[in-house]
Amino acid sequence: MDSSREAPQEKVTARRDSTSRDAGPADVRGLISDVASLRLAGDSAELIDQIRGLEDLTSAIAAMHARAAVAFDLAQRREQAAAGVPAAKQGEGVSAQLALARRQSPSRGNRLLGLAHALVIEMPHTLTALETGQLNEWRATLLVRETACLSAADRCAVDEELAADAGTFNGAGDRALIAAARTATYRRDPRSVTDRARHAAGERYVSLRPAPDTMAYLTALLPVAEAVAVYAELTRHTDSLRARGDPRGRGQLMADTLVERTTGVRGGVSSVEIQLVMTDRTLFQGDSEPARLNGYGVVPAGWAREMVCAETDPCGQELHVFLRRLFTAPASGDLLGVDSRSRLFTHAQRRFLEIRDHTCRTPYCDAPIRHHDHIVPWHHGGSTSLLNGAGLCEACNHTKELAGWRSSTRSGPRHTIDLRTPTGHTYRSLAPPLLGSDPNCSVGAALHGNRLMRRRLKAQRHIGRRSEPLAA
Ligand SMILES: [Zn+2]
Repeated sequence: MDSSREAPQEKVTARRDSTSRDAGPADVRGLISDVASLRLAGDSAELIDQIRGLEDLTSAIAAMHARAAVAFDLAQRREQAAAGVPAAKQGEGVSAQLALARRQSPSRGNRLLGLAHALVIEMPHTLTALETGQLNEWRATLLVRETACLSAADRCAVDEELAADAGTFNGAGDRALIAAARTATYRRDPRSVTDRARHAAGERYVSLRPAPDTMAYLTALLPVAEAVAVYAELTRHTDSLRARGDPRGRGQLMADTLVERTTGVRGGVSSVEIQLVMTDRTLFQGDSEPARLNGYGVVPAGWAREMVCAETDPCGQELHVFLRRLFTAPASGDLLGVDSRSRLFTHAQRRFLEIRDHTCRTPYCDAPIRHHDHIVPWHHGGSTSLLNGAGLCEACNHTKELAGWRSSTRSGPRHTIDLRTPTGHTYRSLAPPLLGSDPNCSVGAALHGNRLMRRRLKAQRHIGRRSEPLAA
């Protein structure tokens, strides 16, 4: 019953506890107001000088970010050691706090901390080049990335050889910079190339991201032999279908084959559950309130209606549609608001949390939900209820369990979580807005029940479908 997550600025506010110091050091605040008070230069030549100066300033700030991140990491490790945290566990949660402060996802926070370590500890020449504007953050990241397979000593030697702070890369494009870094790296440690390939294979993954016009990119990063094998098999099968007179285009056939082979079903989606969430006004009354496809995001109302009302999918396979009423009152979720005495969330509760939260509830984290978490832990008296439940990704659930992290819910029109980090900063996470939560239109009034919904759907398409409330 909700649409995609709102803009991060609206979703999240960070603040310190009232007992803590001001939000940021005064000198950074002063710098921000200095920049805000800058006047645009008068003529073209001066504007170019100003743009160049701003670019240098951006690079210098990136270098300062790196120094601050490493200093924060060391401070946290010292505090953790003093609190008795075992050496192997020290440093946990540092990148997650860094990510929240920088308004980035936890995985990006992890990469930023790695970049900071490399620059500050192992690549002083690259850091100086960043500080003096001879490299920007992206180009410094490329040098760090290309030397990642080396030992600290070798990386330091390559950094000295490249001497980015001596103007080596002035005028060089990114490809030239990468080539220079690779050449120096391979020369320094030829074996690292093999190790790097082995390491890279461990990073294989499949991801999904939205594309325009209710399409999506399903992307796989694979070792080259496997990627070539998959592509060759899709091509071979496509060629044989076309030889037998299949009228579909080559790209269409390859895509359809990929879906069929993966889902194990001809036509792909007919026997696989996809969750399409919409108001009954959108379904029955031609309302324009968009729907949401779980795992994808917002889809147009008309597309959602066609998907539900179509007899077959685009490949000609019969679609099986099941309706579930989610709740009768959006504010209270009364239909589902029954606490479970069990420690584990029921199947219906888990499904509700996935639909309500859409993605991991940690601010800026877009990762898919993997855990159904008790916001206040069960062993601290937290209930197994929708109010005390949240969808989290695996990494964020692990971080939340670390010493010094605390989560709580607060009342409001939408489900709200306050996440408190070990430094005393608090970040707020609002559940995405409910679908149809227009102040002039009550979702509660619009939803009448499964029987009526089923009757109306049947009137639109002659099919016998099961309809069940989510709480059943
Ligand atoms: Zn997460």
